[in-house]
Amino acid sequence: MKTYFVTGGNRGIGLGLSREILKAGNQLIVTCRNPKGERDLWELEGDYHEKIKILEMDVSDDMSIQKVFASLGIDQVIDTLINNAGVFEQFGEKLADIDFEKMSRTLLINSMGPMKVLQQALPFLKKSSEPKVFQITSEMGSIANNTSGGSYAYRASKAALNMMTKCVAVENPNMTAVVLHPGWVQTSMGGSNAPVTVDESAHGLFELTMKLDVKDSGRFFNFKGEERPW
Ligand code: NDP
Repeated sequence: MKTYFVTGGNRGIGLGLSREILKAGNQLIVTCRNPKGERDLWELEGDYHEKIKILEMDVSDDMSIQKVFASLGIDQVIDTLINNAGVFEQFGEKLADIDFEKMSRTLLINSMGPMKVLQQALPFLKKSSEPKVFQITSEMGSIANNTSGGSYAYRASKAALNMMTKCVAVENPNMTAVVLHPGWVQTSMGGSNAPVTVDESAHGLFELTMKLDVKDSGRFFNFKGEERPW
């Protein structure tokens, strides 16, 4: 039994991951922006009362992140952090269309948010015998695979997250730090035409959180466990 910490666990892939984690008998600290309104999460709480802690956190708000970690007990251990929360803000696809305010918000949530959460989680991860951090990235953050261009902000935000995760892996040889692409998934972000269901993606991602270890640190995989190019 491990203790997982998941951001953006109220819907989409984050909710699917939360279900997988609890179903397998683990402990879960799950965060979202507005816990009160999240019926799906409270249903999980009803089923796994002893194993789940639901906390409010907006990853774009430093105080909100700090408050969550300050509320954890001194003996709290986090074995596995999954930074899942993210946004894909739509504006035009071309250089001339870039809205830098929206870009800045995307970078704040998708790149800096996970790193701030990881920075605060580090003392709790260090208490684990096998600390792991998984950053939910996207193939759109792959520079090698970018043949169609566009989506400047989202692509850049995930590329930055990838690079920072590699730095974390180099700096912390005893911690597993990996970036995971969840597939193109049927969520409000992925849309209904996406080929992968939330359950398929979440199941694959969860299996990887158990299977991958320090020898895989600093690498980039998709939800099927296939290595992807940076
Ligand atoms: P959804 O849009 O369904 O869910 C996004 C989640 O992120 C929600 O829980 C949302 O919370 C949360 N979130 C957004 N902004 C913040 C914030 N400031 N603070 C805290 N939580 C926030 O997306 P998915 O489930 O599809 O995406 C999950 C991850 O997977 C993202 O990182 C995304 O980039 C990545 N991804 C998804 C793909 C797909 O095809 N779906 C493909 C590749 C990567 P709230 O409900 O409050 O808005």
